[in-house]
Order: sequence, then structure tokens, then C-alpha cells
Amino acid sequence: MAEMVKLYIDGKEVEVDKDATILDAAKKVGVHIPTLCYHADLSPTGACGVCVVEIEGSPTPKRSCCTPVAPGMKVTSNSKYLREIRKALVQLILSNHDVTCPTCPANEHCELQSLANYLGVDTDGLPTVLEKKPIDETSIAIVRDPNKCILCGRCVNVCNDIQTVSALTIADRGFDATIDTFFSLGMGNSACVNCGQCTVFCPTGALSERSEIDLVWDALLDPDKVVVVQEAPSIRATLGEEFGMEIGTVTVGKMYAAMRRLGFDVIFDTNFAADLTIMEEANELVERIKNGGALPLITSCSPGWIKFMETFFPDLAKYVSTCKSPQQMFGALVKTYFAKESGIDPSKIVSVSIMPCTAKKFEARRPEMRDSGYQDVDYVLTTRELVRMLKAADIDLKTLPDEKPDELMGMYTGAATIFGATGGVMEAAVRTAYWMLTGKDLPNLDIEAVRGMAGIKEAELDINGMKVKVAVAHGLGNARTLLTKVKEQIEKTGQSEYAFIEIMACPGGCVGGGGQPKGSTFAMRARRGEGLYKEDRELPYRKSHENPAIIRLYDKFLGKQGSELAHRLLHTHYFKRSNLDGACVEAVTEKHVHH
Ligand code: SF4
Ligand code: SF4
Ligand code: SF4
Repeated sequence: MAEMVKLYIDGKEVEVDKDATILDAAKKVGVHIPTLCYHADLSPTGACGVCVVEIEGSPTPKRSCCTPVAPGMKVTSNSKYLREIRKALVQLILSNHDVTCPTCPANEHCELQSLANYLGVDTDGLPTVLEKKPIDETSIAIVRDPNKCILCGRCVNVCNDIQTVSALTIADRGFDATIDTFFSLGMGNSACVNCGQCTVFCPTGALSERSEIDLVWDALLDPDKVVVVQEAPSIRATLGEEFGMEIGTVTVGKMYAAMRRLGFDVIFDTNFAADLTIMEEANELVERIKNGGALPLITSCSPGWIKFMETFFPDLAKYVSTCKSPQQMFGALVKTYFAKESGIDPSKIVSVSIMPCTAKKFEARRPEMRDSGYQDVDYVLTTRELVRMLKAADIDLKTLPDEKPDELMGMYTGAATIFGATGGVMEAAVRTAYWMLTGKDLPNLDIEAVRGMAGIKEAELDINGMKVKVAVAHGLGNARTLLTKVKEQIEKTGQSEYAFIEIMACPGGCVGGGGQPKGSTFAMRARRGEGLYKEDRELPYRKSHENPAIIRLYDKFLGKQGSELAHRLLHTHYFKRSNLDGACVEAVTEKHVHH
């Protein structure tokens, strides 16, 4: 049993593990200590000093996020003196800060703004020492504004320790300290994989997605364009949070209604394409198992993971599924299948996607993603951007009625909806691969072993007496650990113990994506995932191969799974990239078109 320590915070007795910090103890007893650089899922740095407390017998205040508890300790969390220190610290930060809240991407979601507000910091007449630095706009996905950086170090921590990409460092010391990239070339010329985790963890507007809001407004207001929208599986589980609904509430009907109110002409759903991805990917898995193809098959729907693979594990590219992500399968079909069925000239279609993800912006602009003859997905908005548009248009999601999507590419199954949570793609693919291999339905559709927030999950499945071992990793550090093991196994024995692996770049999967609401903790991500599992249980169809709209798509347009047309529109190939500047070095797989 853990050794416990008893102490007092503002006179309240509390007992905690001996390794806990004062901040942990305060949380346990419901005492709010203001923080700024601290984040529950990162190791504390104590950089900002805002969380200072007084300890009886100690001559100076201590930072509660990194001061361990001690038996009998008497802590004061709030006093006039502490409030003055905190105020002075925040004033100091703001005097070296580009305070432009109304137009800032973090407005109303900024921890510095709410702390200044909480402490009653007066910015009027505050002297400024800010020497404006250039904004880094080199990346397709992420914008870095050093003038809004408070040097908390969270981005470096998440990029190095959780994602193991190490695209960011703290350069220089003291007053000149700044967050920087490789040779100051900018994020677009670094190993950054666009996962956007730094933008979720950044407490201010210093890191944000590259906004496409204006481009989407222009399209919506253009009478000559037909603007088609798709929403990723996880959006339905996170949008509600921003409108005061409980975390994990699935708001799919209201989401469609909101899209109509914004002016989108055709409302479809990425979930339709998630079912399609499963049809193609399960087919690929079954073919590889039957024909002795490259195993393990590794999933390909997370574009942050794909760039990570191309940068750090290019020799595993042949194991990665050739399937495009649901976003891109959808994009290729909008300007072909939908254009044909609706009789609309594809050059008039603007294809917009709502994604939990900043890497999707990069993915949509990969030169390979033009198989329809046009850029398949024109604009990608993150959940955060969509929320900004809805609020600007005075649309309150909570008050909207439940509406339905448009038919052709709007219908989906429970298998598609769980794509948004770590393990979901694996579970969805197994439901269909089992049916393909045995002609029967999987006896228990819920594969609990691949659910939840454990970094690496494994399961052994029995398919007609054949043992199939599968693994799931989320967060790129976990992916690195799993794939290093897989690589060693293949080098040593010529094969891996796994037949199928799911990788998601972001901790928690897409519900924790880099385009989701700022400031989420891993615990919140788990609750969002629960919302998706609940929707799966309640849907009439739970297996992708049962989706009537997908059956129709194959009948009317694609032919069969893995057909030549399916390969041309729905599959892709990969490159090797430099781990210094992220540039393509060479193609490492080819796109196969079957005849
Ligand atoms: S980072 Fe925060 S405090 Fe700074 S301008 Fe943006 S909203 Fe305001
Ligand atoms: S987007 Fe991801 S890879 Fe790029 S700097 Fe941020 S955390 Fe690192
Ligand atoms: S960019 Fe954001 S997360 Fe990184 S150090 Fe600055 S304020 Fe912190």
C-alpha cells in the first residue's frame, strides 16, 4: 500500500500519497489554486510561478505544482500577499505579450486571459517591453505566434515526450528565451508531423491551426458553388462541450442542423466514408492473410501518423494499408460519385471537411490527393474553427432541433462512429474481416481489450480456429515503442507476432485530436470516447458491410471491393521524408491499380 501523508490546506485536513504535490493535495480537498504553465497530463516545470502558496515555517512562498507534500504541513493557498505576487507575475507576462484578445484564435479559450480576469489584472497603461517577432506561417497546418508565447514549455514537453517528434525546442535563456524549430526554419520546414497536440496543450493563442474560416465563408457566400460538407466521427462527441453540454454528449442531429444554418448546400457525413474505409481495409487484411502478403497490416487513417511513419519508420511503409483516410475517400467520391449522381459539374463543387485534426489540412493538400481530377478536399476546418464560425453566426447548437444528413453519402453504422476513439478502427475492421473470412457475424461485437486509454493495447482473436493477434497504439510515443518492437521482430524472425495494428497520432484517438477544443485532459478524452461507444450500441447497423448506402455505392459505382476504380479513387502510396526538414526524399511504395 502506498505510504500516505496527512497535511492541512487552508485549515482543511487532507491525506495523500507521499509523492503527491501540494497542488495534488489541494485538488483532492477541493481548494482551487490558480495555475498557468501546469497541465494535469504533463510533468510540471514550475516555469510561471502563479501557483505559489505559503507554507508555515517557510520564509518564501513555494510553487505548489512542484513542491512535494510533507507530514503535518500547513499550507495557505490564498492571501492578499499571494494574490499580489500572482498579479505581478501575470502583469509581467502581459507586458511582454501581444494583447489582441478579440481577434486571437484563443479568445475565450485562453488560460492567460481567464487568469488575468480572475486576478483582476488591469492592463490599462501597462508598460510594454514587447519586441515583436515574426509569426511563423511556414506550415500548412499550424501557425506559431511567438508574441503570444508565455514560455510555459508545454508544447516542447508534448512534442518531445508524448509525441517523440522533437520538432520544437526552447532556444536561448532568460529574457531572450524563445520556442524555436530546427535552424529557425519554421514549423513547415521541420520534422513536425502536424498532429496539433501542441495547439491543444498551448494555454494561449501562440500555437493554433492555420485558419481556413475566411475561405469557407467565401465559398458559402458564392452562389455559383455547391458547398458539400463532411464531419469526422469524433466531431459529434466534442462539439457539444463548446455549447455547455456534458463532455461526451453525442450531438449528431444538432450538428447537421448547425451545418444547414451555416449555409452548407449538401450535408453528408465522414462516417459514411469510415464504413467504406473498413470495406477496403478489411478486404486488404483478408487478402494479405490469405495470400501471404505483408503483415502486420497497419492502419492509415491518421495523417499525423502517416507523416511520422514516412519520417521515422519509412521501411515499414509496405506494411501500412494503402487505403486513404475516410476524409480523402470521401473527397475523391464527392467530385466523382456525388457529381455523377446529382448531375453537378465537379468544378462547381467545394468540398469542406470538419475534422478533429490539424494534420488533415496537410493531408488534403498532398499532391497525391487529386484522384477525382480536382483537389479532392478543398478546405479543412478543425472543431475549434467550426465553433468560431457557429458563434460568429450566433448559432447555439444546444437549441437546435435534430436533423438528418442528405442521403447519398450520409448514412453510417456504429463501426464508423467508433473510428473517433482509440481502438475503434481496429474493432470496426475486425467486425467486417471476421464476416469476410467466415461468412458469419462476430459473436461479440464489443472488443473491450482494445478500448480505453492504456497507451498500447493487445488482443488475441479467434477466427474459425485461427489465432489473430492485434495491437493498438495512440500517441506517437506509444506508436514508436510498439513499432520499434515490431521492427526488431521482423528483422530477427522475418515476421511479427501481430497481424493487424491500429495507430492514431493523438492520445485518445481523434476525440483527443489536435483540432479539438483546447485544454482537454486525457480523462476528458476518455469520456468523449465513451460517448461514441454509446452511440455505436444504439445504432441500427453496427457493421460497415451492413450499411445500405455503402452496398449501393459498390453496386452502382465502384463494382467490388479492391476494384480498379476503388484502387484509383480510394488508395494511395507513401514517401520517405527527411527527419530534419520533413521534405520528401523518395517514394517508398507504389499505387497499384488492379486490372
Ligand atoms: S493569447 Fe490569450 S491573452 Fe493573449 S491575445 Fe490571445 S486571448 Fe488574449
Ligand atoms: S504539431 Fe505535433 S509534431 Fe508538430 S510541433 Fe506540434 S506537437 Fe510537435
Ligand atoms: S507556444 Fe504555447 S505551449 Fe509553447 S511555450 Fe509558448 S505558450 Fe507554452
